[in-house]
Formats: sequence, C-alpha cells, structure tokens
Amino acid sequence: MEYAALVETYRALAGTDSTLEKTALLAELFADANETHLPLLVTLCRGTAFPARESAELGISSNLTREAISKATGIGEEEIEDRWRETGDLGDAAAWAVSERTQQALVPTTLDVETVHATLAEIAGYEGEGSQGRRIDAVSRLLSDAEPEEARYLVRTVLGHLRVGVGSGTVRDALAEAFLDGEEADREAVERAYQLTNDYRIVAETARDRGVEGLRAVSIELFRPIELMLAEKSEGIAEAIRDVAEPDEDVLWEYKYDGIRVQVHKRGEEVRVFTRRLEEVTEAFPELASAVREAVSAESALLDAELVGYDRERGRPVAFQQLSRRVRRKYDVEELSETIPTTLHVFDLPFVEGASLLDEPLSERLSRLDPLLSKREGIEHAERLRSRAEDRVREFYEAALAAGHEGVMAKNAGAAYQPGRRVRHVVKVKPAMEPLDLVVTRAQWSEGRRSDYLGRLFLGCYDPEADDFPEVGRLSTGYTDEELAELTALLEPLVTGTEGRRVSLRPELVLEIEYEEIQDSPEYGSGYALRFPRFLRRRDDLAPADADTLSRVEELYDDQ
Ligand code: AMP
Repeated sequence: MEYAALVETYRALAGTDSTLEKTALLAELFADANETHLPLLVTLCRGTAFPARESAELGISSNLTREAISKATGIGEEEIEDRWRETGDLGDAAAWAVSERTQQALVPTTLDVETVHATLAEIAGYEGEGSQGRRIDAVSRLLSDAEPEEARYLVRTVLGHLRVGVGSGTVRDALAEAFLDGEEADREAVERAYQLTNDYRIVAETARDRGVEGLRAVSIELFRPIELMLAEKSEGIAEAIRDVAEPDEDVLWEYKYDGIRVQVHKRGEEVRVFTRRLEEVTEAFPELASAVREAVSAESALLDAELVGYDRERGRPVAFQQLSRRVRRKYDVEELSETIPTTLHVFDLPFVEGASLLDEPLSERLSRLDPLLSKREGIEHAERLRSRAEDRVREFYEAALAAGHEGVMAKNAGAAYQPGRRVRHVVKVKPAMEPLDLVVTRAQWSEGRRSDYLGRLFLGCYDPEADDFPEVGRLSTGYTDEELAELTALLEPLVTGTEGRRVSLRPELVLEIEYEEIQDSPEYGSGYALRFPRFLRRRDDLAPADADTLSRVEELYDDQ
C-alpha cells in the first residue's frame, strides 16, 4: 500500500472536526486493508508504529529531525528553523523544504506503508553509540523519497504529534464500524478487548476474524499489561459513602498509598511488573520480584497494587518522586533497593490460577487474595476497614494520614473490576491542598494549534530575602484558548529576552494555581516542584510581592 494513500486519509482526517466523519474515514481505511496492512494501519493512524503496551520510543528530538530534513533536501537548517518558527510545526517546515529541495534521491522510490512502519520500528531499536546518527540517516532516507505531503506527516509521526485528531476512542468506533455493526454493544466489545490487550492489532484482527463473540472472549493474558481500574474523587467521607454504595451495600475502605501504581504478573517463578501506563519496570525493582515469589503462593496471578518507597529510619513513606527516580535507573539498582526499600501494598486480584476474576465482586476477589498472600518484608495487602460508620472511618482516615499516607479509598465491596475506567464505585478521599498565588517568570511559545500563544508558563514564588522569584513549576493546563490568549497578551509586554521558543519575563503577572502535591525537586530554583499544577484564575489584585512566599511553600511541603 502506498504511503500516499494513508497520507490522503490523514489529510481528510485533519480536514474535519466531526468525530463521526473521522470514524467513517478510518472505518473505510480498516475495512479496505488487506491482512498485512490492517495491523500496521491501526497504529499508524495515530502516528505510531507500536501498540500502546510497547512503550517504544523513537528517541528523536525536533533538532535531530531538523537535521534529517536538511540532509534529505539540501536546505539549510537555519532556513528550516525559520519556517518552523513561522508555522509552529516542523512537519509543515518539512513539507516546504521537500517542495523546495535542491537535491534528489539518486533513485527515488515510492514510499509504502510497510517501509515507513519498518523504518520506525528499526529506529526504536537503535541503541548506544552512533545511534543518533543512525536515526537521522533513517529519517532522512524516508524524507528523500517523500513528496511534500508525505514529508509533513512523516515528520509529525516521527515527533509523535500527528495532529489529525484521532484518539483511541475513534479507532475503537472505527473498528466497530468496519468489522461489526457499529452499535453501542459492538463498541463496548472492542473497548473491553482493548483494555485487556492494549493492542489494537489484536483487537482489529479479532474483530475482523471472529466478530463480537471473539472480542468478548478476549481475556487477561499474563505478561500482557491491562488497563487498571481508576478512581474518582470524593469531597469527604460522608460523600464517599454515598458515592460508592447504596444504603444496603457494603463499603470497603483502604489506605490510599502514594507511590507507583503497578500490576504484577506472576507465573511460576517468572514475575514481571508494569506500571499503570504499561511501562515495564521489573528490572528497576529487583526486590519486588523476589518478594512476590516468596509471598504469593499462587502459581499464576495478576496483582493490582501500589508500590511505596519507605524511609528505613523513619519507617515512613518517601515522597513519590524520590521513588520514581528508581524507575529509570540502570545502574546501582541493587544499592538503591537498600537505600529506598519498597513495600508492595496489594489491593486487588483481577486474575488468578489461569482464570479471570474481573466479573467477580471485590469482596470475592479479596477473599481469593488473602489466603494466597502471606505478609513478608516488602509485601502486604492494603490496610482495610469495612464500615459505613463515619466516626470509625474518620479514625481510619486519621490513622492513614498519621502514618504518612495520602488518604483513603472507598470501594463498593460488591463491584466488578472494570479495566481502564474511572469508576464511581471506587473513590479517593484526601485532604485538599490550598491553592498558591504564583508569579509567571518565564514562558514558552506553544507548538501546533496553540502556537500563537505562550502556553507553557513557569511559576515562581516570592523570596522576600533575595527579592527574587524562585521557580516551583511549570503550568500547561487548566486554561481555555480564550484565557490563554488573554494571558499571552498580558505577558508579551513583559518579555525581557528570547531564547528559541522560550522567553524570560518581568515577574509581574500573578496567577492562582491548584496542584496535587509539592515535591522536592532539583529542577527548579526553589528546590520544590508542584505536581499537576492547574490554572485557576488571574490575581490582578495582587502585586508580585504578594505572591506566596518560599517559606509558605516549604511549610506546605512539610505539612503534606
Ligand atoms: P489519584 O492518583 O489521586 O487519581 O488516585 C488514584 C490512585 O491511588 C490509584 O491509581 C492508585 O495508584 C493509588 N492507590 C493507592 N492506594 C490505593 C488503594 N488502596 N486502592 C486503589 N488505588 C490506590
């Protein structure tokens, strides 16, 4: 199949805002695809060669891509950079460079989908010395054979921003339309199969060859990570009881641990650990596999759990990001498991001894879990309470906070396990962090659709002693386009310097920011970083020196 044909679909997708039209376009693409192409198209249509569960990364930055464009076209990098700045999209700059190219491939060939797919897969496999050069070569080879439109989408694919507005839900609906009847029940069957496989290649082939029944028969397979069940937020204990259960239903409470959500897959001696985002982290936490082998008596199981790092001396949990440092460590892994030991707090069992428990009530899943999990160093089940009595729950909540945990989870004891869904029958209750008033110190022009806006704002608190605004984080969500336009207009006159897409600013604009947590962080001048900051509103009524101070940030950090 010619790549140009796929590019036609990309163009059509980008040309409409209607989800229905997008779905129809994709359904046609899938329905017409032959055996070989279907599995390639279901990932390429979202701009990647990989299914979600393979967290493969191409490792290609904008700068490398610019170099590759220059190499393929003979156009100088500076000119490409200028175009890029003008349009805010390196794909557009690539299309332009290809149309203006001063050099041609010796033997130009027509790009096909297989070649593009294979090259992307190859790039992801490059490692070690010289891999950067090989990546540039591979991309430039593709670009040498590309027509301008193809170059636009190749570059966007390489950079991971295809910009055709196709989400996972559109692929789901398109598969239901292409191979089933496109009804609600069909979409649900596709979705469930996806949540259990995280792989549209499998889902597409199953839908095509075995229909709805085949999709419904898709189940958990060990070592293929599933999407985990997610919780909603509740305002308080009384609300949580009402949220998760009817008056005659049981509420199960558990400590809410703050660490890394993991799914542990075990078969015999083989144990592998994946995060909620499907990344495999088995090697980063070697102590975990041995704890699971020792403590879990089942031959095969999938445990849903939170992995928490502990401070050995104080016996208290360490901040999340201290633990998350362990995830990417390749060296001293063993040593770190000594300095930041972990405990796996297990709270669910979606699969055991070869059978799925997804449709069993939570109480049943836990009663299967308990006899096969013996408490050992580094592993235990989550602290629990079964009660609807608010005062008892409050004690439990206080105890969780006193032990350094984040809060509690309330769960309907009779509910099934719904992979990948934020469900109302599991809610979290934790103390709210009060918002902070912070000053915008630097900003960065956005890319893509919002490239006219300063979309990424660096935030500082006030340090009265130094009369300075040390940064505590970076904001890129929470505002509407309109608010963003207003903020940009207010910030532009404050620009004091420009470096690439970044600008430094006179610290004048004060914003109210909410966030989930304060972490300590070497990344920012303050030594702290806000986790998940969101824009609440402008505080035009405040002068920069009225912003929250560094010592306030320190206090909040200590209190959480
Ligand atoms: P949040 O990250 O604030 O949306 O809260 C939900 C997360 O809390 C889950 O994804 C888990 O990582 C974590 N968590 C901690 N303890 C539990 C528990 N006992 N049951 C379920 N989730 C938990």
